[in-house]
Amino acid sequence: MNDLQKTIKNEIRAAKRVLVTSHIRPDGDAIGSSLALALALVEVGKQVQVVLADGLPSSFKHLPGSEMIKTKTQEEFDLIVCVDCSDLKRVGKALDGYRAPDIVIDHHATNAAFGMLNLIEPEAAATSSVLTHYMRDWGLSITAPVAANLLTGLVTDTLGFRTSNTTPEVLRQAAELFELGADLSSLYFHSLIRRTFPAAKYWGAGLSRLERANGIVWTTLTLADRKVAGYSGNDDADLISVISAIDDEEVALIFIEQNKNNTKVSWRALKPNIDVSRIATQFGGGGHKAAAGAEISGSLDEVRQRVLDSTHEALQLPR
Ligand code: 5GP
Ligand code: MN
Repeated sequence: MNDLQKTIKNEIRAAKRVLVTSHIRPDGDAIGSSLALALALVEVGKQVQVVLADGLPSSFKHLPGSEMIKTKTQEEFDLIVCVDCSDLKRVGKALDGYRAPDIVIDHHATNAAFGMLNLIEPEAAATSSVLTHYMRDWGLSITAPVAANLLTGLVTDTLGFRTSNTTPEVLRQAAELFELGADLSSLYFHSLIRRTFPAAKYWGAGLSRLERANGIVWTTLTLADRKVAGYSGNDDADLISVISAIDDEEVALIFIEQNKNNTKVSWRALKPNIDVSRIATQFGGGGHKAAAGAEISGSLDEVRQRVLDSTHEALQLPR
């Protein structure tokens, strides 16, 4: 074990009350990593709270331990761990009134190393993969409920083991988690395939106004679309994965209206030599080479124009 691993192990051993948190609009890796760590810590006798500023999306209610997730807390903790989150802003209100995290565990290349200790592995396909690799070194066991959460993180961040960072090691980890009691087919179905009816209607609104120009394919989701569809989330219901399958384009984009002055943008690189995290970072966001996002001040129309211009410009640079 290297020094960082030893220090993490000691911090965990010494702590009694632990707060685990992750990013706003939590995805399967944020939730799976948080719950896996929380359940394993409970198992060794810690008092644990999981706080996610946006709470638990209903599509992840099936995960063991999901009832632990709260949207805020006022308790005191001797250890604050933040997983799968690249900067403090993205924690949202979950850490309001608290210090910066003691430990940050992540796999985003754009991570700001905002913890006292930072375990950041940009090559890892998911934060759940980092946890699967190290948890046992820290004295934490991978029980079946922990394995189910870790496997969910692997399945969702690799889009079902098909992203280019899906290595043989990820598949070995998945096989091991499967052996430890995680139900691959059920977890896969619940986290990647199943959709609510409102989510499918919401997709329809986005698909009906799909556009493309200059190698970019994009669409827009408005607050009105959400209302008409009856969709309760503040995200794109993962429509970006649908439009990322479109042939012959270079970048897919979605603009999601948050309010009159705020727009969430998702980028996906559709070719291997494009790095969209650099464009997202220009707008105060971040992510990975192939998948990045930002929340940008400005109306939908204004943000869309700025982002389309910058993305077009970035695509013209030598690669
Ligand atoms: P998505 O577009 O699905 O929201 O996110 C794609 C990737 O970009 C994920 O790895 C996510 O963590 C990251 N990401 C999305 N939005 C933001 C943001 O506002 N700030 C940062 N730093 N990363 C983001
Ligand atoms: Mn992740």
